Amino acid sequence: VAIEAPYDLTLTNVHYTYPNTSREILRGLNLQIHAGEKLAILGKSGSGKSTLATLIRGDRKPNSGSIELNGVATSEFGDQITNYIGVINQTPYLFNTSIANNLRLGNEEATDEQLWDVLERVGLANMVKKLPNQLETMVQEAGLRFSGGERHRLALARILLKDAPIILLDEPTVGLDPITEQAVINTIMTQLKDKTLIWITHHLQGIDLMDQVIFIEDGELNMQGSPAEL
Ligand code: ATP
Ligand code: MG
Repeated sequence: VAIEAPYDLTLTNVHYTYPNTSREILRGLNLQIHAGEKLAILGKSGSGKSTLATLIRGDRKPNSGSIELNGVATSEFGDQITNYIGVINQTPYLFNTSIANNLRLGNEEATDEQLWDVLERVGLANMVKKLPNQLETMVQEAGLRFSGGERHRLALARILLKDAPIILLDEPTVGLDPITEQAVINTIMTQLKDKTLIWITHHLQGIDLMDQVIFIEDGELNMQGSPAEL
Protein backbone atom coordinates (compact mmCIF):
# COMPACT_ATOMS: atom_id res chain seq x y z
CA VAL A 1 0.00 0.00 0.00
CA ALA A 2 1.40 3.42 -0.89
CA ILE A 3 -0.35 6.65 0.01
CA GLU A 4 0.66 10.28 -0.21
CA ALA A 5 0.76 13.27 2.13
CA PRO A 6 -1.12 14.88 3.77
CA TYR A 7 -1.88 11.95 6.09
CA ASP A 8 -5.26 12.07 7.76
CA LEU A 9 -6.61 9.45 10.15
CA THR A 10 -10.34 8.86 10.33
CA LEU A 11 -12.00 6.68 12.94
CA THR A 12 -15.62 5.91 12.21
CA ASN A 13 -17.90 4.23 14.73
CA VAL A 14 -15.15 1.93 16.00
CA HIS A 15 -16.25 -1.05 18.09
CA TYR A 16 -13.82 -3.54 19.55
CA THR A 17 -14.06 -6.66 21.71
CA TYR A 18 -11.00 -8.86 22.33
CA PRO A 19 -11.28 -12.40 20.92
CA ASN A 20 -12.81 -14.91 23.34
CA THR A 21 -14.07 -12.21 25.67
CA SER A 22 -17.52 -10.71 26.03
CA ARG A 23 -16.94 -7.13 27.17
CA GLU A 24 -16.86 -4.50 24.45
CA ILE A 25 -13.74 -2.37 25.08
CA LEU A 26 -14.36 0.35 22.46
CA ARG A 27 -17.96 1.32 21.91
CA GLY A 28 -18.51 3.49 18.89
CA LEU A 29 -15.58 5.91 18.68
CA ASN A 30 -15.56 8.66 16.06
CA LEU A 31 -12.47 10.80 15.61
CA GLN A 32 -10.62 12.81 12.97
CA ILE A 33 -6.89 13.39 13.28
CA HIS A 34 -5.59 15.72 10.60
CA ALA A 35 -2.04 15.88 9.33
CA GLY A 36 0.18 17.83 11.73
CA GLU A 37 -2.38 17.89 14.53
CA LYS A 38 -1.42 17.19 18.15
CA LEU A 39 -3.97 15.05 19.97
CA ALA A 40 -3.91 13.94 23.61
CA ILE A 41 -5.94 10.89 24.62
CA LEU A 42 -6.75 10.78 28.31
CA GLY A 43 -8.71 8.31 30.37
CA LYS A 44 -8.58 6.13 33.44
CA SER A 45 -6.60 2.92 33.58
CA GLY A 46 -8.50 0.21 31.73
CA SER A 47 -10.60 2.64 29.68
CA GLY A 48 -9.26 1.29 26.38
CA LYS A 49 -6.48 3.72 25.41
CA SER A 50 -3.79 1.16 24.60
CA THR A 51 -6.37 -0.97 22.84
CA LEU A 52 -7.18 2.01 20.65
CA ALA A 53 -3.45 2.48 19.99
CA THR A 54 -3.07 -1.09 18.70
CA LEU A 55 -6.08 -0.57 16.45
CA ILE A 56 -4.77 2.74 15.07
CA ARG A 57 -1.45 1.05 14.40
CA GLY A 58 -3.37 -1.64 12.47
CA ASP A 59 -2.21 -4.50 14.71
CA ARG A 60 -5.87 -5.30 15.35
CA LYS A 61 -8.99 -4.65 13.33
CA PRO A 62 -12.18 -3.10 14.69
CA ASN A 63 -15.08 -5.58 14.89
CA SER A 64 -17.16 -2.96 13.18
CA GLY A 65 -16.55 0.57 11.98
CA SER A 66 -13.24 1.61 10.43
CA ILE A 67 -9.85 3.19 11.07
CA GLU A 68 -8.45 4.63 7.88
CA LEU A 69 -5.32 6.47 6.86
CA ASN A 70 -6.15 8.45 3.73
CA GLY A 71 -9.06 6.12 3.08
CA VAL A 72 -7.12 2.85 3.54
CA ALA A 73 -7.75 0.67 6.61
CA THR A 74 -4.61 0.73 8.80
CA SER A 75 -4.91 -3.06 9.21
CA GLU A 76 -4.28 -3.40 5.45
CA PHE A 77 -0.75 -1.95 5.55
CA GLY A 78 1.04 -4.85 7.25
CA ASP A 79 4.71 -4.01 8.01
CA GLN A 80 4.47 -0.98 5.73
CA ILE A 81 2.53 0.81 8.45
CA THR A 82 5.87 1.63 10.13
CA ASN A 83 6.58 4.00 7.24
CA TYR A 84 3.56 6.05 8.29
CA ILE A 85 3.06 5.50 12.02
CA GLY A 86 5.91 5.36 14.54
CA VAL A 87 5.17 4.15 18.06
CA ILE A 88 6.82 4.67 21.42
CA ASN A 89 5.47 2.59 24.29
CA GLN A 90 5.82 3.07 28.01
CA THR A 91 8.67 0.56 28.21
CA PRO A 92 10.83 1.21 25.14
CA TYR A 93 12.60 -1.97 24.14
CA LEU A 94 16.34 -2.08 23.58
CA PHE A 95 17.71 -5.05 21.64
CA ASN A 96 20.78 -6.88 22.82
CA THR A 97 23.14 -5.33 20.28
CA SER A 98 25.04 -2.07 19.76
CA ILE A 99 23.59 1.40 20.21
CA ALA A 100 24.09 1.94 16.47
CA ASN A 101 22.11 -1.20 15.58
CA ASN A 102 19.35 -0.24 17.99
CA LEU A 103 19.04 3.12 16.29
CA ARG A 104 19.24 1.66 12.78
CA LEU A 105 16.10 -0.36 13.48
CA GLY A 106 14.48 2.90 12.48
CA ASN A 107 16.48 3.20 9.27
CA GLU A 108 19.02 0.59 8.17
CA GLU A 109 20.69 3.01 5.79
CA ALA A 110 21.40 5.70 8.36
CA THR A 111 25.01 6.92 8.40
CA ASP A 112 26.96 7.39 11.63
CA GLU A 113 26.60 11.09 11.07
CA GLN A 114 22.81 10.76 11.04
CA LEU A 115 22.96 8.67 14.22
CA TRP A 116 24.96 11.38 15.99
CA ASP A 117 22.53 13.96 14.70
CA VAL A 118 19.48 12.27 16.25
CA LEU A 119 21.40 11.55 19.46
CA GLU A 120 22.19 15.24 19.62
CA ARG A 121 18.54 16.12 19.06
CA VAL A 122 17.37 13.94 21.96
CA GLY A 123 20.19 15.11 24.23
CA LEU A 124 22.12 11.82 24.38
CA ALA A 125 25.15 12.61 22.22
CA ASN A 126 27.37 13.67 25.11
CA MET A 127 26.53 10.56 27.08
CA VAL A 128 27.27 8.22 24.15
CA LYS A 129 30.51 10.06 23.34
CA LYS A 130 31.78 9.16 26.80
CA LEU A 131 31.13 5.43 26.38
CA PRO A 132 34.21 3.32 25.60
CA ASN A 133 33.03 2.23 22.15
CA GLN A 134 30.67 5.12 21.51
CA LEU A 135 28.05 4.06 18.90
CA GLU A 136 29.36 0.50 18.91
CA THR A 137 28.84 0.07 22.67
CA MET A 138 26.58 -2.90 23.35
CA VAL A 139 23.41 -1.82 25.11
CA GLN A 140 23.55 -4.60 27.67
CA GLU A 141 26.93 -3.19 28.64
CA ALA A 142 25.50 0.29 28.60
CA GLY A 143 22.17 -1.08 29.87
CA LEU A 144 23.31 -0.59 33.42
CA ARG A 145 23.90 3.03 32.62
CA PHE A 146 20.73 3.69 30.62
CA SER A 147 18.18 5.21 32.94
CA GLY A 148 14.48 5.18 32.14
CA GLY A 149 14.70 8.66 30.65
CA GLU A 150 17.67 7.71 28.50
CA ARG A 151 15.83 4.66 27.17
CA HIS A 152 12.91 6.89 26.19
CA ARG A 153 15.33 9.25 24.48
CA LEU A 154 16.90 6.38 22.59
CA ALA A 155 13.46 5.21 21.46
CA LEU A 156 12.72 8.76 20.40
CA ALA A 157 15.99 8.93 18.45
CA ARG A 158 14.98 5.73 16.62
CA ILE A 159 11.63 7.30 15.74
CA LEU A 160 13.35 10.47 14.46
CA LEU A 161 15.53 8.37 12.15
CA LYS A 162 12.48 6.60 10.80
CA ASP A 163 10.84 9.93 10.12
CA ALA A 164 7.26 8.62 9.94
CA PRO A 165 4.68 11.42 9.58
CA ILE A 166 2.48 10.18 12.45
CA ILE A 167 3.85 9.44 15.90
CA LEU A 168 1.83 7.47 18.43
CA LEU A 169 3.02 7.71 22.01
CA ASP A 170 1.45 5.33 24.52
CA GLU A 171 2.32 6.83 27.90
CA PRO A 172 5.87 7.46 26.78
CA THR A 173 6.95 8.99 30.07
CA VAL A 174 5.51 6.55 32.59
CA GLY A 175 7.95 5.75 35.36
CA LEU A 176 10.07 8.85 34.89
CA ASP A 177 10.65 11.38 37.62
CA PRO A 178 8.89 14.73 37.03
CA ILE A 179 12.02 16.60 35.92
CA THR A 180 13.13 13.92 33.46
CA GLU A 181 9.54 13.62 32.28
CA GLN A 182 9.35 17.34 31.57
CA ALA A 183 12.65 17.11 29.68
CA VAL A 184 11.39 14.20 27.56
CA ILE A 185 8.12 16.04 26.87
CA ASN A 186 10.04 19.13 25.79
CA THR A 187 12.21 17.04 23.47
CA ILE A 188 9.14 15.38 21.97
CA MET A 189 7.37 18.69 21.43
CA THR A 190 10.32 20.40 19.78
CA GLN A 191 11.59 17.46 17.74
CA LEU A 192 8.18 16.28 16.54
CA LYS A 193 6.57 19.65 16.03
CA ASP A 194 5.86 19.16 12.32
CA LYS A 195 4.38 15.69 12.74
CA THR A 196 1.00 14.36 13.68
CA LEU A 197 1.21 13.45 17.34
CA ILE A 198 -1.16 11.10 19.16
CA TRP A 199 -0.29 11.11 22.80
CA ILE A 200 -1.86 8.70 25.25
CA THR A 201 -1.37 9.81 28.81
CA HIS A 202 -2.72 9.43 32.31
CA HIS A 203 -2.19 12.97 33.42
CA LEU A 204 -2.30 16.54 32.32
CA GLN A 205 1.34 17.60 32.21
CA GLY A 206 2.09 18.99 28.75
CA ILE A 207 -1.45 18.89 27.37
CA ASP A 208 -1.64 22.67 27.05
CA LEU A 209 0.69 22.17 24.07
CA MET A 210 -1.83 19.99 22.24
CA ASP A 211 -4.45 21.05 19.66
CA GLN A 212 -7.11 18.58 20.67
CA VAL A 213 -7.81 16.59 23.82
CA ILE A 214 -10.17 13.65 24.15
CA PHE A 215 -11.24 11.65 27.18
CA ILE A 216 -12.11 8.02 26.82
CA GLU A 217 -14.41 6.67 29.47
CA ASP A 218 -15.42 3.07 29.48
CA GLY A 219 -14.72 2.71 25.76
CA GLU A 220 -16.62 5.81 24.74
CA LEU A 221 -15.48 9.26 23.77
CA ASN A 222 -16.61 11.36 26.64
CA MET A 223 -15.25 14.88 26.06
CA GLN A 224 -13.50 16.51 23.19
CA GLY A 225 -12.05 19.94 22.59
CA SER A 226 -8.99 22.16 22.72
CA PRO A 227 -7.06 22.28 26.02
CA ALA A 228 -8.50 25.74 26.73
CA GLU A 229 -12.08 24.55 26.28
CA LEU A 230 -11.71 21.69 28.74
P1 ATP B 1 -3.86 1.93 31.19
O1 ATP B 1 -4.11 3.39 31.42
O2 ATP B 1 -3.77 1.17 32.48
O3 ATP B 1 -2.72 1.64 30.28
P2 ATP B 1 -5.73 1.49 29.03
O4 ATP B 1 -6.73 2.59 28.95
O5 ATP B 1 -4.58 1.53 28.12
O6 ATP B 1 -5.22 1.36 30.53
P3 ATP B 1 -6.30 -1.05 27.81
O7 ATP B 1 -4.95 -1.64 27.99
O8 ATP B 1 -6.71 -0.62 26.47
O9 ATP B 1 -6.54 0.13 28.85
O10 ATP B 1 -7.33 -2.11 28.36
C1 ATP B 1 -8.73 -1.91 28.26
C2 ATP B 1 -9.43 -3.17 28.74
O11 ATP B 1 -9.13 -4.23 27.83
C3 ATP B 1 -8.98 -3.64 30.11
O12 ATP B 1 -10.13 -4.05 30.82
C4 ATP B 1 -8.09 -4.82 29.83
O13 ATP B 1 -8.17 -5.77 30.84
C5 ATP B 1 -8.65 -5.37 28.53
N1 ATP B 1 -7.59 -5.99 27.71
C6 ATP B 1 -6.41 -5.42 27.36
N2 ATP B 1 -5.68 -6.25 26.59
C7 ATP B 1 -6.41 -7.39 26.47
C8 ATP B 1 -6.21 -8.62 25.80
N3 ATP B 1 -5.10 -8.85 25.08
N4 ATP B 1 -7.19 -9.56 25.89
C9 ATP B 1 -8.31 -9.32 26.59
N5 ATP B 1 -8.56 -8.17 27.25
C10 ATP B 1 -7.63 -7.22 27.20
MG1 MG C 1 -2.48 1.57 28.38
